Amino acid sequence: MATRTQIIVNGRLGRNTTSVREMFYEAIQNAIGPTKICNFGHGTGSTTGVQHEGNRVVPIRNFPQKGCSVDEHGTLVITGSGLQGFCRDCDNRRRRVRLDTSTQNNAGGYDTYENNP
Ligand SMILES: [Zn+2]
Repeated sequence: MATRTQIIVNGRLGRNTTSVREMFYEAIQNAIGPTKICNFGHGTGSTTGVQHEGNRVVPIRNFPQKGCSVDEHGTLVITGSGLQGFCRDCDNRRRRVRLDTSTQNNAGGYDTYENNP
């Protein structure tokens, strides 16, 4: 489901991305309200073992935007809810764990690759 909101941002685009982002949050808030539940790691679990901590009702502005774009007419186009499924806090902690994991996996990896082409 794509929500189309007629807000002309032509000319301002790229100069003031913060306000474009805020326009998206306002459009999303009109559609789903000011908060969204973050269930990260509580349903099927996550490969990183990271789980959302604390209150799962999170302000929408704590979610990174996803599927938000501006078309050639300057119309805001929102695909899906317009928000990533998990909040910024989970995103940061998940990224850190993934970074640690991939660093371990890659220890000596390049040499191994060179010696065993
Ligand atoms: Zn979360």
